[in-house]
Amino acid sequence: MKVTFVGSGGYIVTADRSCPSILVDGELLLDCGFGALKNLRTLNVSLKDLKKLLLTHHHADHVGDLVGLLWAMAMEGRDKPLEVWGPEGTDRLTMDLLEYMNTPPEYTVIKINFRNLAGGETLNGVKVLKAIHKPVNLAYRIERNGKSLCYSGDTSYCEQLISLASKCNLLIHDAVFLDEQREIAVLTNHSTAGEAGRVARAAGVEKLVLFHILPFNRAFEAELLKQAKREFDGEILIVKDLEVLEV
Ligand SMILES: [Zn+2]
Ligand SMILES: [Zn+2]
Repeated sequence: MKVTFVGSGGYIVTADRSCPSILVDGELLLDCGFGALKNLRTLNVSLKDLKKLLLTHHHADHVGDLVGLLWAMAMEGRDKPLEVWGPEGTDRLTMDLLEYMNTPPEYTVIKINFRNLAGGETLNGVKVLKAIHKPVNLAYRIERNGKSLCYSGDTSYCEQLISLASKCNLLIHDAVFLDEQREIAVLTNHSTAGEAGRVARAAGVEKLVLFHILPFNRAFEAELLKQAKREFDGEILIVKDLEVLEV
């Protein structure tokens, strides 16, 4: 499984980090945050080969480039349908955004197969779990060719993620805050680095990526790693945009 971190940041785009977006084997995209499309271009990803877009939730930093992606696909004459999965209302959000952004009718010819998910589903090798965030956030576990990846999306510490991520090869987990910022983590429905480490340890995963690194936490990357390491003794990484992991 080839995992490409298209966008590794969160909330806002900075010079070196776009918002969350992760590409699996060149055909499955998890989230499409601000800046994702430019990075897909930089990576020379063929948009024609993208089969499925899984959205964790409807915060702008996770769906900000959705319309741009669909415009690009339409302009390039995509004729294959695109699967777009996400929480309840994903179909409405997408169609409303296209409409409000005055998408020319000829751009909307691309066929989108929507699937609104509630959490609890298992579909075509993808397991879905409702994590803890506002608005509703879905965590995904993806199995391909004997390898497994679990992506939490945005979430507070979530006990059920432990079984979703059980023994997976790669866990990509929200680690927005330092442990001493736990109060604000709870308030904003995000996790601390230590909590990400706890989930990784309890789930017995092989490798953990601390994800959704905010601009104001850049100076604390070493500290985030240290706090996660206190909980989990497997491999822990903080990745940059365009970085590729072979799982
Ligand atoms: Zn976010
Ligand atoms: Zn969010």
